[in-house]
Amino acid sequence: MKSVEQYRNQKVLVLGLAKSGMNAARLLHKLGAFVTVNDKKDFDDNPDAQALLSEGIKVITGGHPLSLLDEDFKVVVKNPGIPYSNPIVAGALAKHIPVITEVELASQILAGELIGVTGTNGKTTTTTMITMMLNQRTDAGKAYVAGNIGVPASAVAQKAQPNDTMVTELSSFMLCGIETLHPHIAVLTNIYSTHLDYHGSRENYIKAKMRITMNQTADDYFVVNWDSEEWRNLSQQSAAQVVPFSRQHNTEAGAYEKDGQLYFKDEYIMDAKDIKIPGDHNVENALAAIAVAKLSAVPTAGIVQVLKTFSGVRHRTQYVETYEGRQFYNDSKATNIVSTEMALKGFDQPVVLLAGGLDRGNTFETLAPALKDHVKAMIVFGETAQKMADAGKLAGIETIKFTENCETAVPLAWDLSEAGDIIMLSPANASWDQYPNFEIRGDRYIKAIETLTGKAEEN
Ligand code: ADP
Repeated sequence: MKSVEQYRNQKVLVLGLAKSGMNAARLLHKLGAFVTVNDKKDFDDNPDAQALLSEGIKVITGGHPLSLLDEDFKVVVKNPGIPYSNPIVAGALAKHIPVITEVELASQILAGELIGVTGTNGKTTTTTMITMMLNQRTDAGKAYVAGNIGVPASAVAQKAQPNDTMVTELSSFMLCGIETLHPHIAVLTNIYSTHLDYHGSRENYIKAKMRITMNQTADDYFVVNWDSEEWRNLSQQSAAQVVPFSRQHNTEAGAYEKDGQLYFKDEYIMDAKDIKIPGDHNVENALAAIAVAKLSAVPTAGIVQVLKTFSGVRHRTQYVETYEGRQFYNDSKATNIVSTEMALKGFDQPVVLLAGGLDRGNTFETLAPALKDHVKAMIVFGETAQKMADAGKLAGIETIKFTENCETAVPLAWDLSEAGDIIMLSPANASWDQYPNFEIRGDRYIKAIETLTGKAEEN
């Protein structure tokens, strides 16, 4: 950890707790700041606030009182999920108080190297692959995952040594709150339309994503998906050396797929079919990771070893088990149409699809071609059940069943399946209509599979 003096004896406000807020508050306290934490949840059922209070940190809970703005804070560290329309955030900005997110703070104290990964889809998978590849080096420090992947960057940055690397998944919300964060290698996996409710427009969403490269210089690298003209054009905004990756073009300046084989520049790396996790989207993720690994001097054998053995991150087209010839997959993280489409395209076998969830007002016709090509039956649930069924009908799927949720869907899916099929939860929708988050949705789905296969064993 770098020694940082800029917060000593300064008043700082941490807005919103959760994991990243807790870490930011503790770190700033350690750096000698006078920390005030403000969290919406009442003190009595707020164990995080109670813990911080006992550590000597001032806490204000149960709302966001505007009187906080009367205090002379040097900086506000806000939880990425709190919108800029929040009166305290807006008020702080009007008073020209910098409003940052916890990843900015982490980057300020990080002694090691920073690699940043952003994009609409594939961030967690790519971040994980990169980290595993970097850890194949025997002559370098350790690589750690951090950020949006669920590990607060400020906790990792405190333990990272100068020769270590922090591979940080950066959401657009986090990137809105950076000022000096400067990845040596930045990755843009892709940009699809999402989170427009938070950012207001696709243009703003793209602007937020592109902040990942705004502090890069010609000594750095910007690894970009080359398979859309829009993304190629965006790379011109970067001052870093652009390293393309592509499934469609022979981008010899970077990583690419040619006739089913993966290359970096003119070096053959491996066959795409030997990547353990299924789907073209995972070939894209692998290419991005190969580019970063090659720029970081990972031996080719180490890269191949990771891609041949990595079985996916939990809830991301995660293989669960095979039972009586049916393979179960959990893709609960597929919270938008593109994710489900990509997951379906990853399979040659017929898929019994479990889908549905929070209604965000959109429809699902664009999913119909992938449904038509890959899905033999659908079980739908949640607020969008009818809309998902409509997309299924449009695709000509004859068997569409309605049920309560993704758990009750499991035995129904079993009844409709036969040996050789894939049974997959890939909801194409967020989980919040029925579950606290996509992780819990995926965990309950896996439980339901265990119940089903356990029961069947007793028969
Ligand atoms: P993120 O962290 O960006 O949400 P994940 O790696 O967690 O991405 O993957 C989330 C879901 O998105 C996966 O379940 C998969 O269905 C889909 N996905 C993964 N990588 C890609 C990609 N490169 N392009 C499109 N969809 C993808």
